Amino acid sequence: KKGINHGGIQFFSGGIREKAMKLYKLEFEIRRAIQAQEFVLMYQPIVDIQAGNKIVGFEALVRWNQSERGIISPAEFIPIAEETGLIVPMGALILRMACKQTKQWVDMGYKDIQVAVNFSAKQFSMDSMVDDVRRVLTETNLNPRNLKLEITEYTAMCEADKTIEIMRALSNMGIQISIDDFGTGYSSLSYLKRYPVHTLKMDKYFVDHVADNEEDASFARMVIGIAKSLNLDLIAEGVETKEQLDFLYREGCHLIQGFYFSRPLNTDMALEYMKEHYNV
Ligand code: C2E
Ligand code: CA
Ligand code: CA
Ligand code: CA
Repeated sequence: KKGINHGGIQFFSGGIREKAMKLYKLEFEIRRAIQAQEFVLMYQPIVDIQAGNKIVGFEALVRWNQSERGIISPAEFIPIAEETGLIVPMGALILRMACKQTKQWVDMGYKDIQVAVNFSAKQFSMDSMVDDVRRVLTETNLNPRNLKLEITEYTAMCEADKTIEIMRALSNMGIQISIDDFGTGYSSLSYLKRYPVHTLKMDKYFVDHVADNEEDASFARMVIGIAKSLNLDLIAEGVETKEQLDFLYREGCHLIQGFYFSRPLNTDMALEYMKEHYNV
């Protein structure tokens, strides 16, 4: 092989080599953490402001509860898990945890609660994906209507034919699908007509300045209009202020997720939130 005498290591500058080592270590750590069950889910309420701020569901958000470092944000490990393929076993674990928890809440009487689980592109391209989801639903005895899958616009556009096929199969099982971070990926809207999509999630990026920037306000109006004309539900994400909320209410966006109502909660707190906001 060309250049083998130089030794692979010499080709890395100090910085790159360190980076590679760090990645390698993190990959190892993630493998161990899956075994040690250090991944936990937090649940962020999604609220219908048209119906007295009633809770309609949660988004399940993963956290890494690491013994030495404490809680680690998904922004730090999800990208590496995706790169290394570890997102597949990790995602399976996450789906199982979310379904198990949701089933408990349904059995407590919160029959209509819907929990949304994030799926990465890698998971979505697995041939076994549909069977895996079906198996988890069967094992946890959860009604598919209590589960929602979130995929980003980017994932939806990758390998479009395969993705549509998978989405159809999931949709036929009774699982609803959300397009996450809507507006940040590709601009082609035609796919929305072909895909069995139920919900769009407007990214925080667009919500941030709806109340103080006219261009951002126009963009949000446009997204709200798209959802309306395609007859899709729309969730505005990252809503933090009363001004943002008032704007979205006026413009006809009714489903809200954000710190204004609640941060992601642990299971006990999520139950408390439901107790107060399920039937209002
Ligand atoms: P995302 O799917 O767009 O999730 C929404 C993120 O926005 C969450 O960050 C949530 O805590 C945050 N957020 C919600 N409302 C507000 C708000 O009002 N203000 C602010 N500043 N932030 C808000 P989080 O939990 O750190 O997750 C970050 C990303 O990591 C997620 O973005 C998602 O892409 C990924 N992720 C999280 N959990 C999972 C998972 O279980 N599987 C996969 N594949 N990805 C996940
Ligand atoms: Ca999401
Ligand atoms: Ca999002
Ligand atoms: Ca986002």
